[in-house]
Amino acid sequence: MKETEKTAEVRRMQLSGWGNYPSVEADVYLPGNAGQLRELIQNSNYLIARGNGRSYGDAALGGRVACMLSMNRITSFDTGSGLITCEAGVLLSDILPVIVPAGWFFHVTPGVKSITVGGAIASDVHGKNHPEKGCFSRWLLSFRLMDASGAILDCSRDENASLFWQTCGGMGWTGVILSATFQLMRVTSVYMRQLTVRAGNLEDMFRHFEVHKNMPYAAAWIDTTAPVQASGKGTVLFAEHRQGDTTIEWQTKKPADVPYFAPSWLLNPVSIRFHNEIYYRRNKPGERTVHLDKYFYPLDGITNWNRLYGRRGFIQYQFCMPEKEAFEGIGEVLQAVTPSGEVPFLSVLKRHGERPVEAVNSFPVKGYSLALDFPRTRGLISLLNRLDELVRRRDGKVYLAKDAVSHPGLGRVDISRFTGRKFTSAMRERLEQ
Ligand SMILES: Cc1cc2nc3c(=O)[nH]c(=O)nc-3n(C[C@H](O)[C@H](O)[C@H](O)COP(=O)(O)OP(=O)(O)OC[C@H]3O[C@@H](n4cnc5c(N)ncnc54)[C@H](O)[C@@H]3O)c2cc1C
Repeated sequence: MKETEKTAEVRRMQLSGWGNYPSVEADVYLPGNAGQLRELIQNSNYLIARGNGRSYGDAALGGRVACMLSMNRITSFDTGSGLITCEAGVLLSDILPVIVPAGWFFHVTPGVKSITVGGAIASDVHGKNHPEKGCFSRWLLSFRLMDASGAILDCSRDENASLFWQTCGGMGWTGVILSATFQLMRVTSVYMRQLTVRAGNLEDMFRHFEVHKNMPYAAAWIDTTAPVQASGKGTVLFAEHRQGDTTIEWQTKKPADVPYFAPSWLLNPVSIRFHNEIYYRRNKPGERTVHLDKYFYPLDGITNWNRLYGRRGFIQYQFCMPEKEAFEGIGEVLQAVTPSGEVPFLSVLKRHGERPVEAVNSFPVKGYSLALDFPRTRGLISLLNRLDELVRRRDGKVYLAKDAVSHPGLGRVDISRFTGRKFTSAMRERLEQ
Protein backbone atom coordinates (compact mmCIF):
# COMPACT_ATOMS: atom_id res chain seq x y z
CA MET A 1 0.00 0.00 0.00
CA LYS A 2 1.30 3.47 -0.86
CA GLU A 3 2.06 5.55 2.23
CA THR A 4 -0.36 8.33 1.19
CA GLU A 5 -3.32 6.00 0.75
CA LYS A 6 -4.38 6.30 4.37
CA THR A 7 -4.93 9.83 5.70
CA ALA A 8 -3.66 10.96 9.10
CA GLU A 9 -5.90 10.21 12.06
CA VAL A 10 -7.55 13.37 13.44
CA ARG A 11 -9.11 14.30 16.79
CA ARG A 12 -11.00 17.46 17.70
CA MET A 13 -9.94 18.41 21.22
CA GLN A 14 -9.21 21.12 23.74
CA LEU A 15 -5.44 21.56 23.66
CA SER A 16 -2.94 23.33 25.90
CA GLY A 17 0.76 23.26 26.73
CA TRP A 18 2.32 21.96 29.93
CA GLY A 19 1.14 25.00 31.92
CA ASN A 20 -2.51 24.24 30.99
CA TYR A 21 -2.83 27.88 29.92
CA PRO A 22 -3.89 29.04 27.38
CA SER A 23 -6.09 26.38 25.88
CA VAL A 24 -7.60 26.28 22.38
CA GLU A 25 -9.95 24.02 20.48
CA ALA A 26 -7.91 22.26 17.82
CA ASP A 27 -7.97 19.62 15.12
CA VAL A 28 -5.03 17.45 16.09
CA TYR A 29 -3.70 15.25 13.27
CA LEU A 30 -1.39 12.30 13.90
CA PRO A 31 0.52 11.68 10.66
CA GLY A 32 2.18 8.26 10.68
CA ASN A 33 4.56 8.93 7.81
CA ALA A 34 5.87 11.65 5.46
CA GLY A 35 3.19 10.93 2.86
CA GLN A 36 0.36 11.55 5.31
CA LEU A 37 2.07 14.69 6.58
CA ARG A 38 2.51 16.00 3.03
CA GLU A 39 -1.16 15.45 2.28
CA LEU A 40 -2.07 17.29 5.48
CA ILE A 41 0.25 20.23 4.72
CA GLN A 42 -0.96 20.53 1.15
CA ASN A 43 -4.59 20.58 2.30
CA SER A 44 -4.03 23.14 5.07
CA ASN A 45 -3.89 26.91 4.89
CA TYR A 46 -2.17 26.95 8.25
CA LEU A 47 -0.70 24.36 10.60
CA ILE A 48 1.72 24.01 13.50
CA ALA A 49 3.86 20.99 14.40
CA ARG A 50 3.61 19.63 17.92
CA GLY A 51 5.84 17.20 19.77
CA ASN A 52 4.76 16.08 23.24
CA GLY A 53 3.34 19.43 24.39
CA ARG A 54 6.03 20.02 27.04
CA SER A 55 6.41 23.67 26.09
CA TYR A 56 4.50 25.56 28.75
CA GLY A 57 2.50 28.19 26.89
CA ASP A 58 1.13 28.64 23.37
CA ALA A 59 4.14 27.54 21.26
CA ALA A 60 2.57 24.27 20.07
CA LEU A 61 -1.03 25.48 19.90
CA GLY A 62 -3.20 26.40 16.94
CA GLY A 63 -6.45 25.49 15.24
CA ARG A 64 -4.71 22.78 13.14
CA VAL A 65 -1.92 20.81 14.71
CA ALA A 66 0.36 18.07 13.31
CA CYS A 67 1.27 15.97 16.35
CA MET A 68 4.45 14.07 15.47
CA LEU A 69 4.27 11.38 18.15
CA SER A 70 3.45 8.60 15.68
CA MET A 71 6.66 9.21 13.71
CA ASN A 72 8.78 7.69 16.41
CA ARG A 73 11.36 5.26 15.05
CA ILE A 74 15.04 5.23 15.90
CA THR A 75 16.42 4.46 12.45
CA SER A 76 20.12 4.04 13.24
CA PHE A 77 22.45 4.13 16.22
CA ASP A 78 26.18 3.60 15.81
CA THR A 79 27.44 2.35 19.18
CA GLY A 80 31.02 3.03 18.08
CA SER A 81 30.72 6.69 17.12
CA GLY A 82 27.64 7.69 19.14
CA LEU A 83 25.75 9.00 16.11
CA ILE A 84 22.02 8.50 16.26
CA THR A 85 19.33 9.08 13.63
CA CYS A 86 15.67 9.06 14.53
CA GLU A 87 12.29 10.38 13.50
CA ALA A 88 11.23 13.69 15.02
CA GLY A 89 8.51 12.22 17.25
CA VAL A 90 10.86 9.99 19.26
CA LEU A 91 10.93 10.94 22.95
CA LEU A 92 14.25 11.40 24.74
CA SER A 93 12.84 8.93 27.31
CA ASP A 94 12.66 6.28 24.56
CA ILE A 95 16.22 6.98 23.44
CA LEU A 96 17.75 6.69 26.91
CA PRO A 97 17.21 2.91 27.41
CA VAL A 98 18.87 2.34 24.02
CA ILE A 99 21.91 4.59 24.42
CA VAL A 100 22.84 4.49 28.11
CA PRO A 101 23.57 0.72 28.30
CA ALA A 102 25.83 1.23 25.25
CA GLY A 103 27.74 3.95 27.16
CA TRP A 104 26.23 7.08 25.64
CA PHE A 105 24.18 10.04 26.91
CA PHE A 106 22.98 13.37 25.51
CA HIS A 107 25.48 16.22 25.36
CA VAL A 108 22.56 18.55 26.06
CA THR A 109 19.32 17.61 27.75
CA PRO A 110 16.60 19.77 29.28
CA GLY A 111 15.17 19.01 32.72
CA VAL A 112 12.48 16.75 31.27
CA LYS A 113 12.87 13.56 29.22
CA SER A 114 9.35 13.26 27.81
CA ILE A 115 10.06 15.68 24.97
CA THR A 116 10.50 14.81 21.30
CA VAL A 117 13.63 15.30 19.23
CA GLY A 118 11.62 17.68 16.99
CA GLY A 119 10.68 19.74 20.04
CA ALA A 120 14.32 19.76 21.22
CA ILE A 121 15.39 21.24 17.88
CA ALA A 122 12.50 23.70 17.46
CA SER A 123 13.17 25.19 20.93
CA ASP A 124 16.94 24.59 20.66
CA VAL A 125 16.84 23.38 24.24
CA HIS A 126 19.60 23.93 26.77
CA GLY A 127 20.61 21.99 29.87
CA LYS A 128 22.46 22.66 33.12
CA ASN A 129 25.76 22.66 31.22
CA HIS A 130 25.19 25.48 28.75
CA PRO A 131 28.54 27.28 29.31
CA GLU A 132 30.42 24.13 28.29
CA LYS A 133 28.06 22.41 25.85
CA GLY A 134 25.78 25.07 24.37
CA CYS A 135 22.33 24.21 23.08
CA PHE A 136 21.00 21.08 21.37
CA SER A 137 21.88 22.52 17.93
CA ARG A 138 25.59 22.31 18.73
CA TRP A 139 25.39 18.50 18.58
CA LEU A 140 22.94 18.34 15.70
CA LEU A 141 24.48 17.23 12.43
CA SER A 142 21.46 17.35 10.14
CA PHE A 143 17.71 17.04 9.87
CA ARG A 144 15.05 16.61 7.18
CA LEU A 145 12.35 19.25 7.03
CA MET A 146 9.04 19.30 5.15
CA ASP A 147 8.31 22.80 3.87
CA ALA A 148 5.02 24.51 3.05
CA SER A 149 4.85 22.91 -0.42
CA GLY A 150 5.36 19.41 0.97
CA ALA A 151 8.94 19.20 -0.34
CA ILE A 152 11.53 17.47 1.85
CA LEU A 153 14.76 19.43 2.41
CA ASP A 154 17.99 18.08 3.86
CA CYS A 155 19.42 20.70 6.24
CA SER A 156 22.86 20.85 7.83
CA ARG A 157 25.68 23.34 8.34
CA ASP A 158 26.64 22.77 4.67
CA GLU A 159 23.31 22.20 2.97
CA ASN A 160 20.41 24.68 3.31
CA ALA A 161 22.50 26.16 6.13
CA SER A 162 20.37 29.25 6.68
CA LEU A 163 17.24 27.10 7.03
CA PHE A 164 19.15 24.81 9.40
CA TRP A 165 19.91 27.69 11.76
CA GLN A 166 16.50 29.34 11.48
CA THR A 167 14.83 26.06 12.39
CA CYS A 168 16.93 25.60 15.56
CA GLY A 169 14.93 27.67 18.06
CA GLY A 170 12.51 28.61 15.26
CA MET A 171 9.45 27.23 17.15
CA GLY A 172 8.15 25.22 14.20
CA TRP A 173 7.70 28.24 11.92
CA THR A 174 10.02 27.02 9.15
CA GLY A 175 8.28 23.68 8.52
CA VAL A 176 7.96 20.26 10.08
CA ILE A 177 11.10 18.38 11.12
CA LEU A 178 10.80 14.76 10.02
CA SER A 179 14.01 13.21 11.34
CA ALA A 180 17.40 14.20 12.71
CA THR A 181 20.94 12.96 13.23
CA PHE A 182 22.88 14.08 16.30
CA GLN A 183 26.01 13.25 18.24
CA LEU A 184 25.90 11.64 21.68
CA MET A 185 28.43 11.88 24.51
CA ARG A 186 30.42 8.99 26.02
CA VAL A 187 29.61 8.09 29.63
CA THR A 188 31.02 5.28 31.73
CA SER A 189 28.63 5.50 34.67
CA VAL A 190 24.93 6.08 35.31
CA TYR A 191 25.86 8.12 38.35
CA MET A 192 26.74 11.74 38.95
CA ARG A 193 28.91 13.25 41.67
CA GLN A 194 26.68 16.00 43.05
CA LEU A 195 27.86 18.86 45.22
CA THR A 196 25.19 20.79 47.11
CA VAL A 197 25.99 24.32 48.26
CA ARG A 198 23.75 26.77 50.11
CA ALA A 199 23.62 30.49 49.37
CA GLY A 200 22.31 33.04 51.87
CA ASN A 201 21.43 35.65 49.26
CA LEU A 202 21.84 36.49 45.57
CA GLU A 203 25.40 37.77 45.92
CA ASP A 204 26.39 34.53 47.59
CA MET A 205 24.61 32.59 44.84
CA PHE A 206 26.54 34.34 42.04
CA ARG A 207 29.77 33.86 43.97
CA HIS A 208 29.16 30.08 44.15
CA PHE A 209 28.54 29.91 40.39
CA GLU A 210 31.87 31.71 39.87
CA VAL A 211 33.88 29.65 42.38
CA HIS A 212 32.61 26.33 40.98
CA LYS A 213 32.64 27.33 37.33
CA ASN A 214 34.73 24.29 36.44
CA MET A 215 31.91 21.95 37.42
CA PRO A 216 30.24 21.00 34.11
CA TYR A 217 26.67 21.09 35.45
CA ALA A 218 25.06 23.70 37.68
CA ALA A 219 21.54 24.83 38.50
CA ALA A 220 20.25 26.69 41.52
CA TRP A 221 16.89 26.67 43.23
CA ILE A 222 15.93 30.04 44.65
CA ASP A 223 13.57 30.47 47.59
CA THR A 224 11.37 33.30 46.36
CA THR A 225 9.51 33.34 49.68
CA ALA A 226 12.67 34.49 51.50
CA PRO A 227 12.47 37.98 53.08
CA VAL A 228 13.88 40.95 51.11
CA GLN A 229 17.13 40.98 53.12
CA ALA A 230 17.76 37.33 52.10
CA SER A 231 16.53 37.77 48.52
CA GLY A 232 18.20 35.17 46.30
CA LYS A 233 18.67 32.66 49.13
CA GLY A 234 18.74 29.11 47.83
CA THR A 235 20.63 25.96 46.99
CA VAL A 236 22.98 25.28 44.08
CA LEU A 237 23.44 21.76 42.76
CA PHE A 238 26.73 21.30 40.90
CA ALA A 239 27.55 17.99 39.29
CA GLU A 240 29.87 16.00 37.09
CA HIS A 241 29.67 12.54 35.55
CA ARG A 242 31.26 9.77 37.59
CA GLN A 243 33.77 7.62 35.78
CA GLY A 244 34.16 3.91 35.29
CA ASP A 245 31.35 2.05 37.06
CA THR A 246 31.34 -1.43 35.63
CA THR A 247 27.67 -1.91 34.76
CA ILE A 248 25.61 0.76 33.14
CA GLU A 249 21.94 0.03 32.82
CA TRP A 250 19.03 2.35 32.38
CA GLN A 251 16.49 1.42 35.02
CA THR A 252 14.15 4.03 36.33
CA LYS A 253 11.55 3.90 39.07
CA LYS A 254 7.89 3.90 38.06
CA PRO A 255 6.82 7.51 38.57
CA ALA A 256 4.04 8.47 40.95
CA ASP A 257 1.02 10.07 39.27
CA VAL A 258 -1.23 13.05 39.95
CA PRO A 259 -4.42 11.52 38.50
CA TYR A 260 -6.69 14.59 38.80
CA PHE A 261 -6.39 18.35 38.79
CA ALA A 262 -5.78 19.58 42.34
CA PRO A 263 -7.99 22.36 43.69
CA SER A 264 -6.56 25.71 42.59
CA TRP A 265 -6.07 26.88 46.18
CA LEU A 266 -3.61 24.01 46.92
CA LEU A 267 -0.55 26.02 45.90
CA ASN A 268 -0.90 29.24 47.85
CA PRO A 269 1.68 31.50 49.51
CA VAL A 270 1.51 29.52 52.77
CA SER A 271 1.88 26.05 51.22
CA ILE A 272 4.64 27.30 48.90
CA ARG A 273 6.54 28.82 51.83
CA PHE A 274 6.18 25.51 53.70
CA HIS A 275 7.42 23.54 50.66
CA ASN A 276 10.40 25.89 50.23
CA GLU A 277 11.45 25.52 53.85
CA ILE A 278 11.33 21.72 53.62
CA TYR A 279 13.24 21.73 50.31
CA TYR A 280 15.94 23.99 51.74
CA ARG A 281 16.39 21.83 54.84
CA ARG A 282 16.34 18.52 52.96
CA ASN A 283 19.08 19.53 50.53
CA LYS A 284 21.97 19.49 52.98
CA PRO A 285 25.31 20.85 51.80
CA GLY A 286 27.92 18.28 50.79
CA GLU A 287 28.72 15.62 48.23
CA ARG A 288 26.61 12.67 47.20
CA THR A 289 26.22 10.19 44.38
CA VAL A 290 23.04 10.58 42.37
CA HIS A 291 21.58 8.58 39.48
CA LEU A 292 21.52 10.34 36.10
CA ASP A 293 17.71 10.14 36.02
CA LYS A 294 17.36 11.84 39.38
CA TYR A 295 19.90 14.55 38.68
CA PHE A 296 18.72 15.48 35.19
CA TYR A 297 14.99 14.78 35.41
CA PRO A 298 13.90 15.30 39.03
CA LEU A 299 10.39 16.44 38.06
CA ASP A 300 9.77 13.33 35.93
CA GLY A 301 9.47 11.40 39.22
CA ILE A 302 5.81 12.53 39.29
CA THR A 303 3.72 12.15 36.13
CA ASN A 304 1.27 15.00 35.48
CA TRP A 305 2.69 17.15 38.27
CA ASN A 306 1.36 20.15 36.33
CA ARG A 307 -2.11 19.22 37.64
CA LEU A 308 -1.00 20.31 41.11
CA TYR A 309 -1.61 23.87 39.92
CA GLY A 310 -5.29 23.13 39.36
CA ARG A 311 -7.41 23.78 36.29
CA ARG A 312 -6.41 27.44 36.11
CA GLY A 313 -2.93 26.28 35.23
CA PHE A 314 0.36 28.10 35.62
CA ILE A 315 2.82 30.18 33.65
CA GLN A 316 6.54 29.68 33.64
CA TYR A 317 8.34 32.95 33.08
CA GLN A 318 11.94 32.29 32.02
CA PHE A 319 14.20 35.12 31.02
CA CYS A 320 17.90 35.48 30.31
CA MET A 321 20.06 38.56 30.91
CA PRO A 322 23.57 39.36 29.68
CA GLU A 323 26.37 38.77 32.16
CA LYS A 324 27.01 42.40 33.03
CA GLU A 325 23.31 43.07 33.72
CA ALA A 326 22.36 39.77 35.32
CA PHE A 327 23.16 40.32 39.00
CA GLU A 328 21.36 43.64 39.26
CA GLY A 329 18.61 42.71 36.82
CA ILE A 330 17.74 39.43 38.53
CA GLY A 331 17.84 41.23 41.88
CA GLU A 332 15.31 43.75 40.52
CA VAL A 333 13.04 40.98 39.28
CA LEU A 334 13.12 39.19 42.65
CA GLN A 335 12.39 42.46 44.40
CA ALA A 336 9.41 43.07 42.13
CA VAL A 337 8.07 39.56 42.77
CA THR A 338 8.42 39.47 46.58
CA PRO A 339 5.89 42.21 47.48
CA SER A 340 3.54 41.42 44.56
CA GLY A 341 1.61 38.65 46.33
CA GLU A 342 2.33 36.33 43.36
CA VAL A 343 4.49 33.49 44.67
CA PRO A 344 6.37 31.19 42.27
CA PHE A 345 6.37 27.54 43.32
CA LEU A 346 9.63 26.68 41.55
CA SER A 347 12.45 29.09 40.67
CA VAL A 348 15.57 27.95 38.87
CA LEU A 349 18.70 29.98 38.09
CA LYS A 350 21.20 28.83 35.44
CA ARG A 351 24.39 30.17 33.99
CA HIS A 352 24.81 30.42 30.22
CA GLY A 353 27.77 30.64 27.89
CA GLU A 354 28.38 32.25 24.50
CA ARG A 355 25.84 31.83 21.75
CA PRO A 356 27.26 30.98 18.29
CA VAL A 357 26.49 33.83 15.86
CA GLU A 358 24.72 31.47 13.45
CA ALA A 359 22.29 30.30 16.16
CA VAL A 360 20.07 33.30 15.50
CA ASN A 361 16.98 31.96 17.26
CA SER A 362 18.51 30.21 20.29
CA PHE A 363 17.33 31.53 23.62
CA PRO A 364 20.40 31.72 25.90
CA VAL A 365 22.78 34.67 25.82
CA LYS A 366 26.02 34.69 27.82
CA GLY A 367 24.80 35.47 31.30
CA TYR A 368 22.14 34.02 33.57
CA SER A 369 18.54 32.88 33.20
CA LEU A 370 15.86 32.62 35.83
CA ALA A 371 12.71 30.50 35.46
CA LEU A 372 9.75 31.23 37.74
CA ASP A 373 6.65 28.96 37.86
CA PHE A 374 3.66 31.08 38.89
CA PRO A 375 0.22 29.64 39.67
CA ARG A 376 -2.13 31.59 37.41
CA THR A 377 -4.07 34.20 39.35
CA ARG A 378 -5.97 37.32 38.35
CA GLY A 379 -3.07 39.64 39.15
CA LEU A 380 -0.35 37.57 37.48
CA ILE A 381 -0.44 39.06 33.99
CA SER A 382 0.12 42.58 35.28
CA LEU A 383 3.15 41.39 37.29
CA LEU A 384 4.53 39.62 34.20
CA ASN A 385 4.06 42.80 32.15
CA ARG A 386 6.19 44.60 34.75
CA LEU A 387 8.83 41.85 34.60
CA ASP A 388 8.86 42.13 30.79
CA GLU A 389 9.77 45.78 31.20
CA LEU A 390 12.61 44.99 33.63
CA VAL A 391 13.93 42.29 31.29
CA ARG A 392 13.72 44.56 28.25
CA ARG A 393 15.58 47.39 30.02
CA ARG A 394 18.45 45.00 30.84
CA ASP A 395 18.63 43.83 27.22
CA GLY A 396 17.25 40.42 28.25
CA LYS A 397 15.07 37.89 26.45
CA VAL A 398 12.21 35.61 27.35
CA TYR A 399 12.23 31.92 26.42
CA LEU A 400 9.53 31.22 23.86
CA ALA A 401 9.33 27.53 24.85
CA LYS A 402 7.88 28.67 28.17
CA ASP A 403 6.09 31.82 27.15
CA ALA A 404 2.34 32.42 27.27
CA VAL A 405 1.87 36.17 27.64
CA SER A 406 5.01 38.17 27.05
CA HIS A 407 5.50 41.42 25.25
CA PRO A 408 5.93 40.97 21.47
CA GLY A 409 9.56 40.83 20.47
CA LEU A 410 11.00 39.87 23.86
CA GLY A 411 11.77 36.40 22.50
CA ARG A 412 13.79 38.10 19.72
CA VAL A 413 12.92 35.51 17.10
CA ASP A 414 12.88 37.53 13.91
CA ILE A 415 9.48 36.65 12.45
CA SER A 416 10.25 38.45 9.18
CA ARG A 417 12.79 35.72 8.38
CA PHE A 418 10.05 33.09 8.19
CA THR A 419 8.60 33.38 4.74
CA GLY A 420 5.00 32.34 4.17
CA ARG A 421 2.26 31.94 6.74
CA LYS A 422 1.63 28.24 6.55
CA PHE A 423 3.35 27.31 9.80
CA THR A 424 1.73 29.45 12.42
CA SER A 425 0.95 28.94 16.10
CA ALA A 426 -1.13 30.77 18.68
CA MET A 427 2.18 32.25 19.90
CA ARG A 428 3.12 33.58 16.50
CA GLU A 429 -0.31 35.21 16.14
CA ARG A 430 0.30 36.87 19.51
CA LEU A 431 3.79 38.03 18.57
CA GLU A 432 2.54 39.55 15.35
CA GLN A 433 -0.27 41.57 16.93
C1 LIG B 1 9.54 20.00 33.52
C2 LIG B 1 10.12 20.69 32.32
C3 LIG B 1 11.45 21.06 32.35
C4 LIG B 1 12.00 21.70 31.23
N1 LIG B 1 13.32 22.04 31.29
C5 LIG B 1 13.88 22.65 30.22
C6 LIG B 1 15.27 22.97 30.23
O1 LIG B 1 15.98 22.70 31.20
N2 LIG B 1 15.80 23.56 29.13
C7 LIG B 1 15.03 23.83 28.02
O2 LIG B 1 15.58 24.35 27.05
N3 LIG B 1 13.72 23.53 27.97
C8 LIG B 1 13.13 22.95 29.05
N4 LIG B 1 11.81 22.62 29.02
C9 LIG B 1 11.03 22.97 27.81
C10 LIG B 1 11.01 21.83 26.77
O3 LIG B 1 12.25 21.20 26.69
C11 LIG B 1 10.70 22.44 25.40
O4 LIG B 1 9.51 23.18 25.45
C12 LIG B 1 10.60 21.40 24.28
O5 LIG B 1 10.51 22.08 23.04
C13 LIG B 1 9.36 20.51 24.44
O6 LIG B 1 9.38 19.52 23.44
P1 LIG B 1 8.04 18.84 22.93
O7 LIG B 1 8.41 17.66 22.13
O8 LIG B 1 7.12 18.61 24.07
O9 LIG B 1 7.50 19.98 21.97
P2 LIG B 1 6.15 20.83 22.00
O10 LIG B 1 5.99 21.45 23.32
O11 LIG B 1 5.04 20.02 21.49
O12 LIG B 1 6.52 21.96 20.92
C14 LIG B 1 7.50 22.93 21.23
C15 LIG B 1 7.85 23.72 19.97
O13 LIG B 1 8.48 22.85 19.05
C16 LIG B 1 7.80 22.85 17.79
N5 LIG B 1 7.92 21.48 17.25
C17 LIG B 1 7.71 20.32 17.90
N6 LIG B 1 7.94 19.27 17.09
C18 LIG B 1 8.31 19.79 15.89
C19 LIG B 1 8.67 19.22 14.63
N7 LIG B 1 8.70 17.91 14.42
N8 LIG B 1 8.98 20.08 13.62
C20 LIG B 1 8.98 21.43 13.79
N9 LIG B 1 8.65 22.01 14.96
C21 LIG B 1 8.31 21.20 16.00
C22 LIG B 1 6.37 23.27 18.12
O14 LIG B 1 5.73 23.88 17.02
C23 LIG B 1 6.61 24.27 19.25
O15 LIG B 1 6.92 25.54 18.73
C24 LIG B 1 11.21 21.98 30.09
C25 LIG B 1 9.86 21.59 30.06
C26 LIG B 1 9.32 20.93 31.17
C27 LIG B 1 7.87 20.51 31.12
